[in-house]
Amino acid sequence: MDYIRTKTIMTKSENGKLWFGIDYHMNLYRGCNYGCIYCDSRSEAYHIVNFEKIVSKVNALEILEEELASKQYKGVVSFGTLSDPYNEKEKKYKITRKALELIKKYEFGVSIDTKSDLILRDMDLLKEIQKRNNVIIKISITTYDDNLAKFLEPNVISSSKRFEVLNTLRENNIYAGLLMMPILPFVTDTKENIQKCIQLAKESDAKFVYTKMGMILGKRVREYYFQNIDRLYPGLSQDYESVYEKRNVCNPLKYRELLEFFVNECNRNHILCDMSEIISDYKKKFPVKEQISLF
Ligand code: SF4
Repeated sequence: MDYIRTKTIMTKSENGKLWFGIDYHMNLYRGCNYGCIYCDSRSEAYHIVNFEKIVSKVNALEILEEELASKQYKGVVSFGTLSDPYNEKEKKYKITRKALELIKKYEFGVSIDTKSDLILRDMDLLKEIQKRNNVIIKISITTYDDNLAKFLEPNVISSSKRFEVLNTLRENNIYAGLLMMPILPFVTDTKENIQKCIQLAKESDAKFVYTKMGMILGKRVREYYFQNIDRLYPGLSQDYESVYEKRNVCNPLKYRELLEFFVNECNRNHILCDMSEIISDYKKKFPVKEQISLF
């Protein structure tokens, strides 16, 4: 694995209320090997040239410990906003695991986004962390259909296995739910897909299902996505171009109808889907104190 040095690891979240009540962002790795054809982290905006190559920050844990020790506000630290913290290198290098040990030691909370079952390896630490602070795990699934998922997310475990991971987390009393993002226009934006994912989330005892009902096609992501989606549905990229032109935000044509359907399905299944309700629910054991100037 290649390494780079870093000066900082944790950055303050500007608007945690909009994204799972996160107080700090952190990416221990750069790049990801999971190959999701829609991955927004490929965007030019993030300046990662070879996104498939995983690079680790050699001094990440040292800097993380300094930062955790110096912060007064023991908020929720987010793992994996730009790359999956349980990528293929993590099994050997255990950087995410070691970071969780530090989170535990300094009594911070944690928010993790992943598509990998490797998170189950760290169940012991998640259980310990949630004794003193808030924990939320988001298992990312875009379609219930394992064949379609294999095409969209070629190096990831099947959607069925990801629902099993979610279920195992819940059986161990870890606060966890389903992140159903992105929703790909003309591909996964069907009522059938939404209904089935929510039903499987319910069967997995998910605490929430969250979506933004659309996708972002930034520069570089667009080219990569179009090349790949045309292999599955020849000519589909032309439909995208005629509907969305060069726009970055691509919402399904039936956005409102689908969103209403999604909310109704979540309500019918008694699963949270509103961001502020999810935040209040997972933080109810250790409620948020006023954070002004505490960073
Ligand atoms: S797992 Fe996440 S970071 Fe990795 S390629 Fe897929 S969407 Fe991108």
